[in-house]
Amino acid sequence: MRQIQFEYENDASLRQELNRIDKWRTNRQVSAILFHVFSDNLETDKITHVTSLIEFALPDALFAGCTTSGNVMDGRLNKSHITITCTIFEDPNTHVEVFQMPLTSDTEPKVTSDLGEIVRQRPWVKSIELLVTIRGLSMTKFCEDLSVINEDIRMFGGGAFSDDINEVSSFVFSSGSDCCEHAVVFILIGGESVSVYSEWVTGWKPLGRKLKITKADHALLHTLDNKPAYDIYYKYLNIANDDQFFMHTLEFPFIYKHNGIDILRAPTACREDGTLVMTADIEEGVEAYMAYGDPWTILEQVNSCGMRLAEFEPQAIFLFSCAARRSFWGNEGCDRETSPFQNIAPTSGFYTSGEFMRTGKNLNQHNVTLLITGLREGPATGKRHNFRIRDHELDGQASLVNRLANFVQAATADLEETVMMLEQTSIRDGLTKLYNRTEIQHRITARNKAYTENPDDVNRPSLIMIDIDNFKHVNDTFGHHEGDIVIKTISHIMEDICFDTDTDISIGRWGGEEFMILIPNTLRDGTEALAEKIRTTFEAKVFDVSGSHTISLGVTFAIAGEHVDTWCQRADAALYEAKNTGKNKIVIK
Ligand code: GH3
Ligand code: MG
Ligand code: MG
Repeated sequence: MRQIQFEYENDASLRQELNRIDKWRTNRQVSAILFHVFSDNLETDKITHVTSLIEFALPDALFAGCTTSGNVMDGRLNKSHITITCTIFEDPNTHVEVFQMPLTSDTEPKVTSDLGEIVRQRPWVKSIELLVTIRGLSMTKFCEDLSVINEDIRMFGGGAFSDDINEVSSFVFSSGSDCCEHAVVFILIGGESVSVYSEWVTGWKPLGRKLKITKADHALLHTLDNKPAYDIYYKYLNIANDDQFFMHTLEFPFIYKHNGIDILRAPTACREDGTLVMTADIEEGVEAYMAYGDPWTILEQVNSCGMRLAEFEPQAIFLFSCAARRSFWGNEGCDRETSPFQNIAPTSGFYTSGEFMRTGKNLNQHNVTLLITGLREGPATGKRHNFRIRDHELDGQASLVNRLANFVQAATADLEETVMMLEQTSIRDGLTKLYNRTEIQHRITARNKAYTENPDDVNRPSLIMIDIDNFKHVNDTFGHHEGDIVIKTISHIMEDICFDTDTDISIGRWGGEEFMILIPNTLRDGTEALAEKIRTTFEAKVFDVSGSHTISLGVTFAIAGEHVDTWCQRADAALYEAKNTGKNKIVIK
């Protein structure tokens, strides 16, 4: 595999480059020629003109491209509007094909299933690069649908963009298809000798305490911990909601886990009600952290990523970097993290509106991320080019920001542990470690409320109230210590049996030797069977000092609309009846 990269200056210089390629390949083994054309300018006429020159000079070559927020050539942000990367595949068994499909939320299911079919028919496929227009489309479903494609196939790519990040249009184009504002281009590469290696790196690290995303809708992040999302930026970072908002928050995007990996989302704007407009979909219900990026920490992580890529010995590197990274570093600084890749192999790519990469089975849309894919034909030779970021930032010690962030992280972790311990002691009973009366009552009240609001015959909550029979006698005859042992034993028995049945069951100490079990949903074998199992297991237990004991149980099911106290009183009445009609039994009311 070989790669040549050049700028489009004018027609004459382009023709010259194309002729050179054509001449070079005469009398050589070439299985495919693929052009990537990147344009940070949205003039379709210009792009169509350039690609028609390529088609004319090399009719059997393929091309694919998109508009960008900056083109990367020879590992650096290039100043010319159009850059061209020509990859020449030399192994006779290598295959390359390009497909462009119109992509909207309506066509998305067909696009993904058609690609699945195309790939099934081509067992040689090893990697799929995608260039896609993102605006106006939720990519979550697109990514999920593409994740069903054979797991061995690597997937990577980027979202088309514009040099002006407020510009809404962007487009993709490819051999045989026109420039299209709503489309995806798939570049399929494979064959026996082709190897693909891809990695992603952000460099941003979590900072501070956990934040729950309590309300979000696609790319709108409404609330964090039930408060307007913007409040976090103001409270912790003192970032004002002005025209500098995006630039300031860029250093502190959100980081959260999706499909088991870290995903970043940056706010691009803030609405009056404190809702943040994010760079892409963000999930409601997940736990997120604010992340921080500082040059030292980022470069250090890019460095480790580059060293792993160097071991792969790529012959060509494709790089997809978020437009936000270009803003973060600035035009003068952004090459610091991309240019070292050029030491390993020719490196080209673009600044994107979203980075797509498969990790394991799942294709994910990243933001603020740098994706790197290395391609190689044939085996590695062992003659590798070392990767090393030569940057004064990386010389010597960790940055002050990095150390301060570590300090904040460690202090937050200590606090979180203390809070967790306090929470535990405030809701647990000291002797049995079951929930205390307040907590179990709170849980029963909440479940009763939810059931009243949404009565559901299939999942009716129930209560079991339990009292040890003749317990005074245990205390009086064998002492208080033995009484405590009996109380702890029935607690363990309840826990073992209940959590074996359903881990959502809550068990509380209601009073001295009285307990309450909340079963939030219908059990497969029924609440009565669970109660009976507890009764018989306890009855069978023989205590060394005091012998065996029994319990009485009252069981009740919730009635939608009923006050929680009435529900609990019914459980009490059922227990009372069990006591009055012989003990060691269950009464259901
Ligand atoms: P019944 O079968 O009707 O339930 O009779 P009982 O003797 O168990 O009567 P009751 O439920 O009224 O007795 C509760 C006793 O439990 C009274 C109290 O001294 C004892 N008790 C309450 N809390 C504890 C405790 O933490 N440890 C011990 N050892 N005894 C306790
Ligand atoms: Mg009792
Ligand atoms: Mg009692």
